[in-house]
Order: sequence, then C-alpha cells, then structure tokens
Amino acid sequence: MRGRVFLVGAGFGGPEHLTLRALRVLEEAEVVLHDRLVHPGVLALAKGELVPVGKEGYGRKTPQEEIHRLLVALAREGRAVARLHGGDAMVFGRGGEEVLALRRAGIPYEVIPGVTSAVGALSSLGLPLTFRGLARSFAVATGHDPTLPLPQADALVLLMPLHALEALKTRLLERFSPETPLALLARVGWPGEEVRLGSLTDLPGLGEGLPSPALLVVGRMVGLYREILGS
Ligand code: SAH
Repeated sequence: MRGRVFLVGAGFGGPEHLTLRALRVLEEAEVVLHDRLVHPGVLALAKGELVPVGKEGYGRKTPQEEIHRLLVALAREGRAVARLHGGDAMVFGRGGEEVLALRRAGIPYEVIPGVTSAVGALSSLGLPLTFRGLARSFAVATGHDPTLPLPQADALVLLMPLHALEALKTRLLERFSPETPLALLARVGWPGEEVRLGSLTDLPGLGEGLPSPALLVVGRMVGLYREILGS
C-alpha cells in the first residue's frame, strides 16, 4: 500500500455502510485526509494520522490544489495515504480532479466506491427513488446554482439545496406542478437527522432552520413517503 493514494468513499452516514475494502484501507493507511462530511464513527476506525482538509464552514479552508499537492507529496514520501470523501468520491466530491492530479503526477492510486447520499440517504430510511407507475427515472443534480436548468427526469435529487430554495422553487415549477410532493432530508445517519415532507408550494419555508447537510427530493413517488415513515 505504500506510496499509493486511496480515494475512499466513506458513505453518507455512520461506519456501518463502509465497504470491506474501505475498512481495510482505513485500518492500514498511515495518513488519512478527510473533509467535514465524513462521519466521526468512520474517522474513529482510522489507525493513521488524521488530517482535516476543510471546506467552507469547517475550520481552515483548504484549496483543492493544496489537497492535490498534499496527496502527491505524501505518496512521494512513500506513505500509504487515504483520502476520505463523504458518500462517493465521484459524486460532487472533486474525486475526479484528484484522480487527474494523481495520474498527471504518476502516483499510483485506487478509488473505493462509497454509498452516495443521493441514493443511500433515501434507501436507509426505506424511501424509494423509483416506483412503478410513479417514477421510472431519476436525476441527481446540484441545487447550488439555480440559474442553471434542471435535468429532465421523473424524480430529482438535489444536493446542496438549502441556500437556494426560493430560486429552486421557480426552476422546479417550470417542470413540476405546484402540488408535486417533495422531501427535505437533513443529516441522514447523523445526530440531528430530520425529514420534512411537503409539496412545491411549501418552499422555501419548509427548509427554514433545517441543519445541513441536507438534500431535496421531488417527484410523485415522494407522495408515498408519509405512509412509509408512518408519520
Ligand atoms: N460525495 C457526496 C456528496 C458531496 S456534496 C455523496 O456522494 O454523498 C454535499 C451534499 O451531499 C450536501 O450538501 C447534501 O446535499 C448531501 N449530503 C451528504 N451527506 C448527507 C447526509 N448525511 N444527509 C443528507 N444529505 C447529505
């Protein structure tokens, strides 16, 4: 494992969703870089030195280029390096950029898949993303920039939606009727987990005071969620 970087998907919540490969790498890596979306229960399994590479709202902000430099430098020192990503490294995690940086530097690397919040946060609560007769396609997009058009699919999962709910509502109403059900899922698998159900008309108020990270799910199958959750 030495002189090698492992881009590890740590899953969206606690350690129970780690793959066996991710667990093995966590136990063997000498240095573990992680961001704020990695659950403390996962970090507790790491045996090596923990290095937080913070993004906004989490201590020091580490520019992406510095993360690349760190990964390359540590691997060149001959260390076994794990770079932990919340969810899956390849879903809005900048894992793609890290793969390119490692390849360009000639550093051996391996990507270990993780359970992305875009799917796992729902299924861990028993909530379907597709449902016969209600949703036969879904798309995952970032809600970060609501000036951009939304993808065409029966169901949408929008990550990072909280600061843009008003503008997202306008965008969503171009695609869905106002009574279309939606769900906001916050901190799934973490302390403070919260689920709010409503419809497009309830935005942006439905998200008020909701903790992050959270995601937004829209589509006709969300109409089943109340019964499934028993709420
Ligand atoms: N690579 C990550 C996503 C990174 S973008 C993955 O595959 O899951 C960060 C966004 O992911 C957050 O803004 C939120 O929309 C979503 N997210 C991550 N963890 C979450 C959780 N435990 N509960 C709800 N949403 C979560």
